[in-house]
Amino acid sequence: MSEKRVYTFGNGKAEGKADMRNLLGGKGANLAEMNLIGVPVPPGFTITTDVCNEYFEKGKTEVVALLKKEVEASVRHIEKLMNAKFGDIANPLLVSVRSGARASMPGMMDTILNLGLNDEVVEGLAKKTGNERFAYDSYRRFVQMYGDVVLGMKPVNKEDIDPFEAIIQQVKAKRGIKQDNEMSVEELKSLVVLFKEAIKKQTGKDFPTEPMTQLWGAICAVFDSWMNERAILYRKMEGIPSEWGTAVSVMAMVFGNMGNTSATGVCFSRDAATGEDRFNGEYLVNAQGEDVVAGIRTPQQITKEGSLRWAKLQGVDEDIRAAKYPSMEEAMPEIYAQLNDIQAKLEKHYHDMQDMEFTVQEGKLWFLQTRNGKRTGTAMVKIAMDLLHEGEIDEKTALNRCEPNKLDELLHPVFDKLAQSQAKVLTRGLPASPGAACGQIVFFADDATKWHADGHEVVMVRIETSPEDLAGMSAAEGILTARGGMTSHAAVVARGMGKCCVSGAGAISVDYKSRTVEIDGVVLREGDYISLNGSTGEVYLGEVQTKPAEVSGDFSDLMKLCEKYTKLQVRTNADTPHDAKVARSFGALGIGLCRTEHMFFENEKIKAMREMILAETTDGRKKALEKLLPYQKQDFYGILKAMDGYPVNVRLLDPPLHEFVPHDLEGQEAMAKEMGVSVHHIQQRVNSLSEHNPMLGHRGCRLGNTYPEITAMQTKAILGAAIQLKKEGYDPHPEIMVPLIGIVKEFDVQETVIRQTAAELFAEEGVEIPYRIGTMIEIPRAALTADMIAKKAEYFSFGTNDLTQMTYGYSRDDIASFLPAYLEKKILKVDPFQVLDQQGVGQLIEMAVKKGRSTRSDLVCGICGEHGGEPSSVKFCHRVGLNYVSCSPFRVPIARLAAAQAAVE
Ligand code: PEP
Ligand code: MG
Repeated sequence: MSEKRVYTFGNGKAEGKADMRNLLGGKGANLAEMNLIGVPVPPGFTITTDVCNEYFEKGKTEVVALLKKEVEASVRHIEKLMNAKFGDIANPLLVSVRSGARASMPGMMDTILNLGLNDEVVEGLAKKTGNERFAYDSYRRFVQMYGDVVLGMKPVNKEDIDPFEAIIQQVKAKRGIKQDNEMSVEELKSLVVLFKEAIKKQTGKDFPTEPMTQLWGAICAVFDSWMNERAILYRKMEGIPSEWGTAVSVMAMVFGNMGNTSATGVCFSRDAATGEDRFNGEYLVNAQGEDVVAGIRTPQQITKEGSLRWAKLQGVDEDIRAAKYPSMEEAMPEIYAQLNDIQAKLEKHYHDMQDMEFTVQEGKLWFLQTRNGKRTGTAMVKIAMDLLHEGEIDEKTALNRCEPNKLDELLHPVFDKLAQSQAKVLTRGLPASPGAACGQIVFFADDATKWHADGHEVVMVRIETSPEDLAGMSAAEGILTARGGMTSHAAVVARGMGKCCVSGAGAISVDYKSRTVEIDGVVLREGDYISLNGSTGEVYLGEVQTKPAEVSGDFSDLMKLCEKYTKLQVRTNADTPHDAKVARSFGALGIGLCRTEHMFFENEKIKAMREMILAETTDGRKKALEKLLPYQKQDFYGILKAMDGYPVNVRLLDPPLHEFVPHDLEGQEAMAKEMGVSVHHIQQRVNSLSEHNPMLGHRGCRLGNTYPEITAMQTKAILGAAIQLKKEGYDPHPEIMVPLIGIVKEFDVQETVIRQTAAELFAEEGVEIPYRIGTMIEIPRAALTADMIAKKAEYFSFGTNDLTQMTYGYSRDDIASFLPAYLEKKILKVDPFQVLDQQGVGQLIEMAVKKGRSTRSDLVCGICGEHGGEPSSVKFCHRVGLNYVSCSPFRVPIARLAAAQAAVE
């Protein structure tokens, strides 16, 4: 660890720079960089992320002692550049204290503004600025924020609003005023007193008056916020390691609340929801940053174009818009021009869409932050493709700019046009994060989580959201807020999650106590259905039907780019013609796994299947299988046709037979009646099929090896369907896969059955179809003896579900009983059934590929376990030289992108 713990910046100089984000956090690194490229930034310093780890190792006292000298010197540095003094009464310096991790975690950690005020300094500030209202407004905000963040003030009940907000409401109600900025100086002064009393009463703590004490309290609180519940949850969702830690940036305050030539805002160089190249954002005159994000006042648009758009959505007339909510472009044209220049400069500098915060203090513009903006999946793809076409980035960068898992959002359903046109529009808000959502109304985050866990789809309705609501937002289908604009917490976080969100629906009135929301005279209660269109901002009554998404031109451009670079092919796991078609439309180059067990469950089929299971002789079984043959043939006909020209890898029957017989008395009675046998007979057979450990029992090729007639029937069905298609002019490419072998002889016996059956069929039909026989590698012994197996099998497909099960010795069906504890205790980092264990299971795969190709050099290897659609596992498959991965249809684009990224990495 380096000895230097604090890095200063200011006046066009900085000790850090953009590529030091690991040490200085994204915010700290970019504050330094902005100084270096001539963007106006208030002076300050950043305490490194290493110190955050030290803080949790060594504790507060020791770390404060370690930091003391450097922090004090850095405060002097700010004082010098600002020509003011921290804690000075005549000429006070105030600072802000902000968090900033390596990866951006919007709103998850804490910020404190106006630090350095106390009862004396506030008087000095009032004198210095000649603006008593500003001084006391800043002071009451500081006490409020410090109380929340450092002293731990919280609402007592979840139905309650923030305790400080409650006091503000009381003060405003007394005089019948509505807006915060209508409060008199005397009222602001009274707020400070009331806030401090409330803090003392609820926490037992006095508000600290000494500025340096305040600063240490704030620095430690920011470090502590790294470990708050919502930050931990966010890291888990985004896969951010806790060792990264947060940096703390302390900066001189600049004030957006010094009067009508001051303002504050948030802006984006492109549209974070759609990806369009339109500068946009929101600002408020005479306000501080949190007012914009918290959604307490209605923010105004930065550009005129945005303002007109907003007014249209909100149904605000042009004369009212122009008078009450003018854009910054109209209200402060000179500042706007500077802002516009700098945003363009920053985007060009970082070659990516920027999300920026700024403040205007008495006509002077300051930048407080810039970062690569969070965006929806749609915007991610559009921005990457646009920047590529604009020549800002190259193809490989464009590929790497897209996060595979986020493509999922593009494939989410949208509202069915007809259903939408017939739905009752209750109101309109802002289209904060696109998508379609329907669900039952809940008002609280913990209810959203609970209802979701109970299988309900919910829409969370809030006055506004706060970082505490993260888990609920994640569990909900969509989020609707009464307050807040396009840059509100709800909007930013929802876009990051790819979750549908309508914000700032001013016409809705939420009552947490009665758990109701009133919209245009309609009262809806908890549990009622509502639908949201995050792309238009419309809110509909009831459930509106959805349909699958249509993919855009940018998406197909991205997929073309994937095709250009990828080495690894992507197939799909599909066992119906419909799934096969969907996967083809996403670019799957064949079926990597067609499971056949699901095909036996429909009416007539299950009857014949049960007949086969009950049969006591081979002949009896053959008779029942004869009945199944035409159904199976029909199944394969449809699938091979949907995948015409591409390989279809059909796996022979895999599951234990007991899965096909009923285990409850009612079902057994019905089956007895249907089959014309006694219930007792059925029960006997069910008992004889029962196994202590079915996962390791009579399944996979063990079935085909005990009942070869099943294999023969399936072979006839697969190749019979292919022959029929060939006769009709199609181009089928069947592959037959033997599951769950551990001994090469298991494969041999099955292969003989398949080849014999095929030869007979071809002779009968007078048509030959080329086909291949391969096997799954899903038992460790198969991986260990892969060289022997490859002499016989023409291809391998790694069944990593079973291979993981048998390598770890964790039952696939029972892992839920201990996985949460293992994750909690960090014994396991991730669920190995979702993310391939490269160290253990991966070693078996790598070895099996090598051994297999040592005896069959052109051995085709694929993977068809769940891991085939998980980006990090796909990248591993590329590295060990697999030919393809196979995954469910909706993961095909994800796997294609991950495969292309692996190729360019
Ligand atoms: C596997 O084991 O990985 C596999 C694909 O087969 P199943 O999940 O059907 O056992
Ligand atoms: Mg398996």
